[in-house]
Amino acid sequence: KLSTRLDTVASFVEEGATLADIGSDHAYLPCHLVKLGRIQKAIAGEVVKGPYESAVKNVRKKGLSDEITVRLANGLEAIHESDGVDTITIAGMGGPLIASILSNGHEKLQNVKRIITQPNIHASSIREWAVQNGWKIIDEEILKEDHKIYEIIVLEQGHAQYDDLEMMVGPYLLDRKSNVFIEKWTRESDEWKRVLGSLENAGNTNEIIEKKEQLQKKINLIGGVLSN
Ligand code: SAM
Repeated sequence: KLSTRLDTVASFVEEGATLADIGSDHAYLPCHLVKLGRIQKAIAGEVVKGPYESAVKNVRKKGLSDEITVRLANGLEAIHESDGVDTITIAGMGGPLIASILSNGHEKLQNVKRIITQPNIHASSIREWAVQNGWKIIDEEILKEDHKIYEIIVLEQGHAQYDDLEMMVGPYLLDRKSNVFIEKWTRESDEWKRVLGSLENAGNTNEIIEKKEQLQKKINLIGGVLSN
């Protein structure tokens, strides 16, 4: 059985999609979707030998070698033009790493319809990448599993604008303000306040003043949300 985190990522993959799961590790996500019959064909890409081998083994064990091609490759290099990939999932990495994988492989994205990302940290770097590269957010999810909070951002081609608060916390998540969302941002905001407090007596170099201003700005932005 898939984790709730991966199951939620999977739920955004459309029926009949041709999927590339980048950083697939054990290839649980494509295996799950093919076994469900939701998709018929997938690529599992891995850059590290150990996880790549575990993906190959797992796909073979489940008898899915005809449907799932596992490739040892860096980022979107796992995708070949003839694959006809229309959906990409990248889960379980930091937001900046996911954004750099998308940037480095941007020529592979031309015919891609949907990108589903699950950044472990710094989800805002994915929103920034999207805005700068002609993708828009079509949905988001936030969930808690084993005391960890995860965000999922779903992108499709198009243009959209978001204000600073939406870029930070996500336009759809902000709109819904779920309990998990409130918990996450209360935690973050408490941490920023703690750091800000610890900088009170840290001197007055430009660097420290700038850092304090940044923290205060974020505290103010989220404060408006949490006080409602
Ligand atoms: N996607 C799975 C999940 O969400 O459960 C596995 C997540 S695992 C923590 C991250 C995987 O991404 C690792 O197996 C790592 O080797 C792989 N990875 C990191 N950078 C990569 C890159 N540039 N290209 C392909 N895979 C990468």
